[in-house]
Amino acid sequence: MRKRKNIAYWVVLAVVLVITGGCRRAAEAKKCGVTVSLPAVAYFVDRLLPDSIEVGAMIPPGDNHDTYSPQPSQLVRLTSSVAYVALGPLEFETTWRERIVSSAPEMKWIDISNHVDVIGEGESRDPHYWLSPRRCRQMVEGMRKELTGLFPSAADYISTEARKLDGELVTMDSLMVVAVGERAEAFLTYHPSLTYIAADYGLEQLAIESEGIAVSANSVRETIDRAREKKVGVFFVQAGYDEARVGVIAEETGGRIVKIDPEGSDPMECMRLIARTLAGRDGDD
Ligand SMILES: [Zn+2]
Repeated sequence: MRKRKNIAYWVVLAVVLVITGGCRRAAEAKKCGVTVSLPAVAYFVDRLLPDSIEVGAMIPPGDNHDTYSPQPSQLVRLTSSVAYVALGPLEFETTWRERIVSSAPEMKWIDISNHVDVIGEGESRDPHYWLSPRRCRQMVEGMRKELTGLFPSAADYISTEARKLDGELVTMDSLMVVAVGERAEAFLTYHPSLTYIAADYGLEQLAIESEGIAVSANSVRETIDRAREKKVGVFFVQAGYDEARVGVIAEETGGRIVKIDPEGSDPMECMRLIARTLAGRDGDD
């Protein structure tokens, strides 16, 4: 019993030491941590930074970024962040920016879309650029610059990791090129998260839902008709959507349902699955 208590004590102490030690190691940072909106973006920031700097996402995996409201506890946690790395065109960020910044006035707001060729104008700018390997490379390079500015003592670490990540994205780009070379076509998706993949690799995205806007039954009907006319082979479906409705649309369009998690914590795996699916090889391992 006593022994177990001792172990618990050492575990707690070790955790405390790791946390405080980590903060001290990021010497130039008064506070320790970077916050982003989505788990997919946290993935990239996290890979670029040493373990001593904590990276957190505001919107939990599987939650809809068009409707999500942060918990009060999340706003409190922001006070330990040195920066908020924003995607830029995400409606969640536009809606919450003022409150996020006022809960942590010393935190720096970094808009990473300044480093990326973004599709769309004004309010209709598309936020999902991390999903196309080509735009994702621009994003990672932008993150490298911004994070190096924030944490100059970690500059070597950040540039080594950025190079590795860029290499993986170059490979992913070739995978996409080969995939669409085999079968260039239109695809159907529920949430319009694949705009950049469509633009960069010459495909047509047909989306059931519009970003942040309620779509009319008529426009859904038109999309379904167009998908049928184009003989779409694939229907990409994101987590959290009405299964029954998805089933009906799949049946009507002839698109085979493929579940993807574009905003979740493993965007590289998501890109790989999309490439394999477009090549008609998603059944393989
Ligand atoms: Zn989205």
